[in-house]
Amino acid sequence: MEGAEQRADACDVVVVGAGIVGAAVAARLARQGLRVAVLEAQQVAGGATGRSAGLLLTGVPGHYHWAVRFFGREAARALWELSVEGRERLMEAAAHLGVRVERTGSLALAVTEEEAEALRASAELLREDGFDAGFSRTDPLQRGFLAALQRPDDGVVDAADLTRALLASAPVTVHTGTEVQGLEAEGADIRVWAYRRTVRCGAVVLAAGGYAPTLEPTLSRWVSPGHALLVAGQVEGDRSLDTPCYADYGYEYACSLPDGRLLMGAWRYPRRPSSAENSPDPDAALREGLSRFARRYFPEVEGHIIQRWTGMIGCTPDGVPVVGALPHLTGVYFALGLGGWGLCWAFVAAERVVEMMLEGAPAGLLDAQRREIERR
Ligand SMILES: Cc1cc2nc3c(=O)[nH]c(=O)nc-3n(C[C@H](O)[C@H](O)[C@H](O)COP(=O)(O)OP(=O)(O)OC[C@H]3O[C@@H](n4cnc5c(N)ncnc54)[C@H](O)[C@@H]3O)c2cc1C
Repeated sequence: MEGAEQRADACDVVVVGAGIVGAAVAARLARQGLRVAVLEAQQVAGGATGRSAGLLLTGVPGHYHWAVRFFGREAARALWELSVEGRERLMEAAAHLGVRVERTGSLALAVTEEEAEALRASAELLREDGFDAGFSRTDPLQRGFLAALQRPDDGVVDAADLTRALLASAPVTVHTGTEVQGLEAEGADIRVWAYRRTVRCGAVVLAAGGYAPTLEPTLSRWVSPGHALLVAGQVEGDRSLDTPCYADYGYEYACSLPDGRLLMGAWRYPRRPSSAENSPDPDAALREGLSRFARRYFPEVEGHIIQRWTGMIGCTPDGVPVVGALPHLTGVYFALGLGGWGLCWAFVAAERVVEMMLEGAPAGLLDAQRREIERR
């Protein structure tokens, strides 16, 4: 394979991708005494993780009310519990490693009457199911939103710093600038073909986010690439957001950074009707949607944008991450599809894929074979 003949290494497990999931997987495996190599095409946290706004939002986008309808009450509750567990593990790890993390709470804001009603119903269902949630029919930010759902336990984290700190916390070998180009069975082992390097190993974990189907096309059954866009504005005055907020079912969000900049973002689920999936410039629709949102609710940002960036996320049909094993290549596992609210899922997805690999444990709610994938 092109450029792959220079180096041949050996280890127990290769992790493809040094985002938050790959870092959590690698650190966990290395702490169990396995020899782990992380191969990363760009730099550590160079994908979605390092581009994220760092909001720790529990659950999946669409609000709890929608999740109860789609998954059923019990499964929705179990999913929320799992993402709460993921959030708590991540916050603990960040605090332990000295990474900036803060429990700010979050605000879900309604942009239509229909969404206001969905928020009211969600708050009620969340409380009935034992989660802390407040609801108000007015806008606490006084920006023209129609209702708000408060989650006091959510937070923010510096996701790039956490990824770097996780990798530094365990004896993991990290090769950056090393794009993996192919995987091949070699006896009981796997040969990983990468740019200027080949590695022979016993198992592989694909944690390549939205790029994964490019490496392994069969993964497109579960994961489609989606786009996210962030802009940072340097705004004057004292309208900073003490609590990060999201609106329009979670597809638009805003928060203040410690240095005073206001971050605003948008992302799209690839199969959503307003999706940019088929557009020749998928970011154009996002830019347009975000400008509309900013003009209406955060007009002080207009004319003060100082930075913009985009990133690729992996999305699943039902919005829940997938953990599984490739049927045609023994020893190759994946933890993917964290979507636009991925951070709260990273630690549980990492834990499930490691347990599947080491103990043959099922991935439970994150199982790639779940029926919801087919239904949507
Ligand atoms: C602009 C933006 C804002 C976001 N804001 C938030 C937010 O506020 N809160 C939230 O919860 N989520 C947010 N997200 C989503 C969140 O960032 C992701 O869900 C999460 O980071 C996914 O982590 P990951 O490790 O699966 O993927 P990634 O971080 O994308 O990591 C995958 C890595 O694999 C590497 N890679 C890919 N292919 C190969 C290959 N062939 N060989 C080697 N390496 C490869 C990539 O370079 C990348 O570094 C945001 C995403 C974006 C883009």
